[in-house]
Amino acid sequence: MLKKTDETYFNGEREVEKTSVAIIGAGFGGLSAAMLLSEKGYHVKVFDRLQNVGGRGSSKTQKGHRFDLGPTILTLPKNFEELWKRCGDDLSQHVKIEKLSPYYDLIFEDNDVLSVSGNKSNFEAQIKKFAPDDLKGYRKFMRLSERQYNFAFSKKGSMGRSPMHRLWDTLKVLPIFALLRADRSVYRSAASYVSNSKLRFALSFHPLFVGGNPFTVTSMWGLVNYLEHRFGVYYIHGGAQAMANKMAEKIKSSGGQVTLNTTVNKILTKENRAIGVQLETGEKISADYVVSNADLQNTYDSLLGHQKKKRWTKHKLDAKNWSMSLFVWHFGTSKTRSKWKNVGHHTILVGPNYKKEVNDIFIKGELPQEMSLYVHRPSVTDKTCAPKGDDTFYVLACVPNLSFKNDIHWRDIEKSYKTKILDVLERRLLPGLGRLIKTEYVMTPLDFKERYLSHFGSGFSLEPQMFQSAWFRPHNISEELDNLFLVGAGTHPGPGLPGVLASAEILDEILPDLKKVANKASYHTNKKVMQV
Ligand SMILES: Cc1cc2nc3c(=O)[nH]c(=O)nc-3n(C[C@H](O)[C@H](O)[C@H](O)COP(=O)(O)OP(=O)(O)OC[C@H]3O[C@@H](n4cnc5c(N)ncnc54)[C@H](O)[C@@H]3O)c2cc1C
Repeated sequence: MLKKTDETYFNGEREVEKTSVAIIGAGFGGLSAAMLLSEKGYHVKVFDRLQNVGGRGSSKTQKGHRFDLGPTILTLPKNFEELWKRCGDDLSQHVKIEKLSPYYDLIFEDNDVLSVSGNKSNFEAQIKKFAPDDLKGYRKFMRLSERQYNFAFSKKGSMGRSPMHRLWDTLKVLPIFALLRADRSVYRSAASYVSNSKLRFALSFHPLFVGGNPFTVTSMWGLVNYLEHRFGVYYIHGGAQAMANKMAEKIKSSGGQVTLNTTVNKILTKENRAIGVQLETGEKISADYVVSNADLQNTYDSLLGHQKKKRWTKHKLDAKNWSMSLFVWHFGTSKTRSKWKNVGHHTILVGPNYKKEVNDIFIKGELPQEMSLYVHRPSVTDKTCAPKGDDTFYVLACVPNLSFKNDIHWRDIEKSYKTKILDVLERRLLPGLGRLIKTEYVMTPLDFKERYLSHFGSGFSLEPQMFQSAWFRPHNISEELDNLFLVGAGTHPGPGLPGVLASAEILDEILPDLKKVANKASYHTNKKVMQV
């Protein structure tokens, strides 16, 4: 049940009449929620502790090189287009989005390359070359992937785009889950259709991009194969930061507030409902509703540390499976634009032992001896990310999160780990790289913990496993407190830009449209409207 707060006085000032929402965090979850709620007539106030908006999608510039710290691959740009349209605007007027071709190259240890693009016949021709017997199985797998996408994410009302806070909503889809073999892992699903190990990797690695172990997360994540092939892989010019900046501008132009460099340290409560937030300065901001885009454990353990929990106690949260963390090495290179001609925008250097590598990271909590690397070279597509003639790169290695008791001390090993990565890069992709780097910036799991207040330094919040999804994931409508809502990677449906946007879309569905409510007073006492 949603309840309007009593008229509350903070700092001697009476809150304005407009129904207000305090949003903790200006990641893509918080920003899209703010856009949608502004559009519905709410007065939104967004607070973020960082210097710029975008959260994990923010960027940092050094010596003319823009380092995009997080998302580099945009799938389903139509969801961003729909968001802007819903707010009476046209995304293309604000941000340039470009479809890439190829989407990415997978380079295997023996130097075999699988170039993934939307060109179906080209992709199938590659399969015919190195795994001709798998072509039939591949086609069947893609049909399954299409069915998974259509069921889980294709339209509003699909499972991934609806609130799943009622257990019944999850139970009633179990028969479809069974039909789609959601009980299997993505890897097992791929392996049941194709036998070539390279193709099995190509069809199953995607959960790693959202923090999931391909050998344990549900095969539903196989839907990414279909959506990539059907809709494409895109790049946001100016990086994800450019999109986030425009979203913040839109919020402000609709009358909302975005306050940066400001940490929220408490969610204010009265009886069992949220009534505002307290900033680290001690200032109290009253609000009718609170939306948290902060990391899950931060929301429930720290900001609501004073509140007794029904479901998400510290113990329960700690016991969950958290996504892996990341070691991300950003660097700018000098006068290299005409070098390394075969290296495109996205490259994945596949390590020699997929299962062992993933097992080391997720199960044993060890650094794999031999690693896979994702290499981002946006300067191939976007001239604004590096000085003329130079390149900007990031290389990402999946590493265990900080929940494991092991002897990985990041401050001590950061340098040697980077050297290890450099060896792989020089050997397999970018010969001579070491002497061409002019500026760099490294993020270890400790930085994820510090910068985003991320539990165990996890890159993507709770791992998107079957029993940590839908009803089993912390709900968009908080189970702990009335008038508190969650958006972002830690709530339903889960991590990745499409998921995070969907969480805001769900909030939009839950909260009533104030512009359509002629008489506010009657709206607030109308239980039918308020009931969720
Ligand atoms: C390296 C990397 C690469 C990725 N690549 C991709 C990709 O290619 N494609 C894709 O779709 N997804 C990708 N992802 C995942 C995607 O970036 C995230 O799932 C998504 O951006 C998370 O958005 P969010 O809104 O949940 O949270 P966040 O981006 O984490 O934002 C939360 C915000 O809340 C703020 N905050 C937290 N606590 C407080 C507090 N107490 N007070 C004030 N502010 C607070 C933080 O400062 C932060 O700005 C990637 C992630 C990483 C880390």
